[in-house]
Amino acid sequence: MITILIAGAGASGMCAAITAARQGAHVILLEKNDIAGKKISMTGNGRCNITNEAMSASCYNLSAQGKMEGWLQRFGVAKTLEFMKSLGVVTQSEEGYIYPISGQAVTVQNAMIDEVVRLGVEYITGQQLKKITPVDDGGFEVKTTGGLYKADKVIIATGGLSGPKSTMSTGDSYYIAKSLGMNVTKTYPALVSLLSDDKDLPSKYGVRMMAGIRIKEIEDLYEYGEVQITSKGISGIPVLQLSGRVAQYMADNKGTVTAFLDFFPTYSDDDFTNMKKDIIEVSRGKTYIQVLDGISNHLIGLMILSRLGIKEDTVIDANSIDDLERVIDNYRNVRINIVATSDYASSQVTKGGVDLNDLTDDLESVHTPGVYVVGELADVDGRCGGYNLQWAFTSGYIAGMAAAGR
Ligand SMILES: Cc1cc2nc3c(=O)[nH]c(=O)nc-3n(C[C@H](O)[C@H](O)[C@H](O)COP(=O)(O)OP(=O)(O)OC[C@H]3O[C@@H](n4cnc5c(N)ncnc54)[C@H](O)[C@@H]3O)c2cc1C
Repeated sequence: MITILIAGAGASGMCAAITAARQGAHVILLEKNDIAGKKISMTGNGRCNITNEAMSASCYNLSAQGKMEGWLQRFGVAKTLEFMKSLGVVTQSEEGYIYPISGQAVTVQNAMIDEVVRLGVEYITGQQLKKITPVDDGGFEVKTTGGLYKADKVIIATGGLSGPKSTMSTGDSYYIAKSLGMNVTKTYPALVSLLSDDKDLPSKYGVRMMAGIRIKEIEDLYEYGEVQITSKGISGIPVLQLSGRVAQYMADNKGTVTAFLDFFPTYSDDDFTNMKKDIIEVSRGKTYIQVLDGISNHLIGLMILSRLGIKEDTVIDANSIDDLERVIDNYRNVRINIVATSDYASSQVTKGGVDLNDLTDDLESVHTPGVYVVGELADVDGRCGGYNLQWAFTSGYIAGMAAAGR
């Protein structure tokens, strides 16, 4: 019987272990933490956004763009839902975003661990992968902090650098992959908030508004959704979606970028002009801030007025109409100077990793056949919304099948 050693028992490693064991392989699953799937339990604000019905290769950044379509065809959303069903996890769609119906991420974590155990996988916790050495008569010797193991195939599923410390995502295997001849592309934190040095941003508790966000320096990158502005910078889903590209741009160019916020993202130019006319018509005798309170959160109104040097309690009269128009126009172009992203510990995924050009379509190393790389360790990062767990399941399944000889 073939022995497959899988290092790392996160979403990708457990999926690979379950897949290979279901094919009849003898599987050893090694985990550095004291329990498998710690990160799964933290996903989706504790609810685990498993995947997304709006699945497409274009939702991913990767070092071999053309490959994702084929991988998703082999194990996409439908197969993930079947996989969840086979674990006894009941799912539901919330406008396309798939969650366990229990509303609890631990449902997925526990169901995967239960299946690993039920299948007779040798599940070992508290041991860290240290070294993989190909042996002359075939197979590998795998050194961990707990001993030496022999395996015919090895799947490395140790994740990237993202997540709180307790997830033990410390990028351990970048050097192991390098030692086996694989190229590792530069890494950056992704799905993370953007930090600003602007001193006038509102409230440490955060202000939320729907907005479009544009980064002109990076190919006019644009996202739309609910943005949260705090005294430290900006976050929220649209900000997370841009963040990996921003982190990469700032690190590679050693510079900063400007985020332009449009608080009227759904308005055409005509709609906006008409709205302005309507507001101006009813503004006489009111203070600026009274007018702006009808448009935005109070603190955003104060920030815009202060940036334009206009006192909030100035009363609007016939002479101030041009100024009021200028203030309202500003809502389409609020500048936030971005100087950094939050660090890996607060990021949801790592951009960069093991170069996909060094892996076959089965995610097997070109340089060291018999070794597979899956999950966040590979140079794949997806959008926020279930795409990163989908990649963990997709890659875990493909490598699990291939290592088991299927
Ligand atoms: C707060 C948060 C929320 C998220 N929410 C979502 C979401 O809702 N939907 C979504 O799609 N994605 C989400 N993600 C991203 C998603 O969780 C990850 O992309 C995914 O879990 C990666 O799976 P993985 O198996 O590749 O790596 P990991 O989950 O990081 O698993 C790697 C495992 O390997 C172990 N390990 C590390 N080094 C070694 C070693 N040397 N030896 C042995 N074991 C080792 C680790 O302890 C860990 O258990 C979120 C991430 C975070 C941090």
